[in-house]
Amino acid sequence: MEKRVYKFSEGQAAWKELLGGKGAGLAEMTRAGLPVPPGFTVTTEACRQYYRHGRRLPDSLFAEIESQLAWLEEERGQRFGDPARPLLVSVRSGSVTSMPGMMDTILNLGLNDETVEGLARLTGNPRFAYDCYRRLLQMYGSVVLGIAAIRFEHPLEQLKEERGLPSDQDLSAEDWKRLIGIFQAVIAEESGEAFPQDVRIQLRRAVEAVFRSWSNNRAAVYRKLHRIPEEQGTAVNVQAMVFGNMGGQSGTGVLFTRNPSDGEKRLFGEYLMNAQGEDVVAGTRTPSEIARLAVELPDAYARLEETAALLERHYRDMQDIEFTIEQGELFILQTRSGKRTAQAAVRIAVDLVQEGIIAKEDALRQIDVTHLNQLLHRGIDESEIVRVFAAGLPASPGAASGQLVFDADMAEEWGKAGRKVVLVRTETTPEDIHGVIAAEGTLTSRGGMTSHAAVVARGMGKPCVCGCEELLVDTEARTLTARGETLAEGDWISIDGSTGRVVAGTLKLREAVISDELRTLLGWADEVKRLRVLTNADTPQDARKARELGAEGIGLCRTEHMFFSPARLPVMQSLILADNEEERRHALRRLLPMQQADFEELFRVMDGLPVTIRLLDPPLHEFMPKLEELLKRREALARAGASDSEEARLVERLIHKVKLLHETNPMLGQRGCRLGIVFPEIYDMQAEAIFRAVLRCLHESIEVHPEIMVPLVGHANELKKLREWIDSAAEQVLGEERRSCAYRVGTMIEVPRAALTAAQIARYADFFSFGTNDLTQMTYGFSRDDAEGKFLTHYLDAKVLEDNPFQVLDPDGVGQLIEMAVRQGRQVKPKLRTGVCGEHGGDKESILFCHDAGLDYVSCSPYRVPLARIAAAQAALRERADCPVPEAIPTG
Ligand code: ADP
Ligand code: MG
Ligand code: MG
Repeated sequence: MEKRVYKFSEGQAAWKELLGGKGAGLAEMTRAGLPVPPGFTVTTEACRQYYRHGRRLPDSLFAEIESQLAWLEEERGQRFGDPARPLLVSVRSGSVTSMPGMMDTILNLGLNDETVEGLARLTGNPRFAYDCYRRLLQMYGSVVLGIAAIRFEHPLEQLKEERGLPSDQDLSAEDWKRLIGIFQAVIAEESGEAFPQDVRIQLRRAVEAVFRSWSNNRAAVYRKLHRIPEEQGTAVNVQAMVFGNMGGQSGTGVLFTRNPSDGEKRLFGEYLMNAQGEDVVAGTRTPSEIARLAVELPDAYARLEETAALLERHYRDMQDIEFTIEQGELFILQTRSGKRTAQAAVRIAVDLVQEGIIAKEDALRQIDVTHLNQLLHRGIDESEIVRVFAAGLPASPGAASGQLVFDADMAEEWGKAGRKVVLVRTETTPEDIHGVIAAEGTLTSRGGMTSHAAVVARGMGKPCVCGCEELLVDTEARTLTARGETLAEGDWISIDGSTGRVVAGTLKLREAVISDELRTLLGWADEVKRLRVLTNADTPQDARKARELGAEGIGLCRTEHMFFSPARLPVMQSLILADNEEERRHALRRLLPMQQADFEELFRVMDGLPVTIRLLDPPLHEFMPKLEELLKRREALARAGASDSEEARLVERLIHKVKLLHETNPMLGQRGCRLGIVFPEIYDMQAEAIFRAVLRCLHESIEVHPEIMVPLVGHANELKKLREWIDSAAEQVLGEERRSCAYRVGTMIEVPRAALTAAQIARYADFFSFGTNDLTQMTYGFSRDDAEGKFLTHYLDAKVLEDNPFQVLDPDGVGQLIEMAVRQGRQVKPKLRTGVCGEHGGDKESILFCHDAGLDYVSCSPYRVPLARIAAAQAALRERADCPVPEAIPTG
């Protein structure tokens, strides 16, 4: 039989899959001689067995647990259930991937009506003993028996009120004893059986409950969000208790080795004196800042500082540590890599390199690029802030505006309806997670920087302000009051998670700034990456922003966007309405200078870098008003007796044209090069505008690299024909100068046939740009809008598909087409340039694919350029050897 229970001293950091993150951490720290209370870990494999056994703990497994328990009794010189010297343990969940607060832990197991008296006698502290026991009843009641927390909180509140005492700390031994009676009655009433006095039954039920908590609702939601596999399971840690609630020399706290919000190198955390376990994170009492501990318990603080530095060097990363001080003695209960904002992640990675703890490559590998988005988050435009409504803790940076909602379900419902919401709670619990996901940002009136809301929001990169104590949250009346002003549900509110400010109403947001650390890191990324990172930009503003963010050119300029402005749309419509070539040419002559000016600007901004211009792509009906709208206008004109007017005649013509242009399936209709071939004047005009712009810029000594991209080619002849036209436009416009301008003509590969016949198409193409959005639509036969609106969510929920193929490039199908087209194309033209444009170009997984497929570049939206640069570096690093395993913790 394989071993399913390991002493902490038997495990190690590398066994995370088996022991869970917490168990592996406890093992590693134990082996290094750090002050960890002894205990053992029941493996994740045991958890899987529990589920295979129809959610029952196999007897053989419990026997194994008992034999380790016997060892622990020996070790501590105590016995489980022995009133003379009772052993107390915690039963702690611990999954492989950290899921803060999502699963359950029970403390003080081993207390019953008899052992509690023993504990009181032994410690000479009955108040403490009864406090421990009522906590056990409370945790056991809610975790094992599923009794609502309020059933315990309510009597406690009542008792405090009755005694006229504001805080738990003021309650006496007698008070706790009374509460124990009440809690036992609650348990008996709610569960139909008494709280088990047999401590072995307590242990068995507790272990089962932790396994069961793996499948509770909030854990399931969290796993889905963070893509944690269902089969991973959780380990269970059984550990001897140490007590932070033993009086004035005791306490408990949590600590980050660096500031998780901005990355500053300084211990960052909170603690509570005379408290136990979850008290700090629960947000029920406001904790003290860690710096105060240096004054309150200097020796323990010094030990803590030392240990923090040691753990950081060992794990080569910022750590999140849980500690307890029992009568002046420090114990470490947990360590893990600390969750952090993107801003902190970048600063910490760069600092660790500069402190010699990690190498540049490690820093690049460490960055979670999906998270970098947050860095480019906007903040509040300072000049906009008139009056602050309230102020709290800056728990997760970024600014957000939304309509007020007071519960998670409402947040989800409104969010689904497309409304922007800000979730306001007194404090959040793990049950609120779906609301935090749906909201633009979260605001709480209680809880510190390590409260649940703060941790979860930082993990998701969403703005959060918490501990905003001046807020009066009335969840009944659904109002929010501060500084004499009251807001109601649905009112707009803004929060700034970087400063903690809350403002009534909406606010203008300002652009993100790039920190020096990020610049450094991006510089390192450029040193190792092989893929070039271009940008999708249609306007000079976008192009400028992208260049600032490190784009190496424009990979996609969608020219249709240039026709949608109010000044141009009517000209475009007159072009579409034109009955003959003469009229068409007239409209085009008006569009030409506008286009030319657009291109000139782009060339100037991208001086020295390639600018890829895609010729008109969408079907013409997209430039026309909707039919219903036109019919309404016709009706209105008729009602006003103006059916004979000039306007009415125009409306008639528009209606006629819109009907003509109507297609059953526009995605597969007359668009892209099909339009270009049927109406050559349009592409002619665009080519002429491009080359005129080139000429002008050449005269300004600007280095231009125009790349003209033909969309939707499916047959080599399409490109052959269009290329001839483009070349002859170049000849006409550039004349002699043609030699000083190396323009390229290429195509988008977005129809499967183009990929299949890439060898033929490559004869006329200087580059291939994979339009992976359309290519995915046509390869899967999914129309994106219909798929995402209808079955795709279902597919993802039912695990028919792992990922949304419009977000993460499908490597097996679409990817195969890309690889094949690249191979075939290069056989014909070894220097053929290949890349991806569209949303996938900014997605991490897709970028890794593009690197592996040997593409030359990716092109993505300006704000994703930094992310793409780092992902491209990570792709290059993946080819090299893995980073070395950390050496053992130096002790002493
Ligand atoms: P979570 O994964 O939710 O953080 P933990 O298992 O870490 O849950 O435990 C919750 C709290 O209980 C933590 O504050 C932890 O420090 C405390 N705790 C757990 N085990 C012990 C123990 N043996 N002695 C004292 N405190 C403990
Ligand atoms: Mg913990
Ligand atoms: Mg397309």
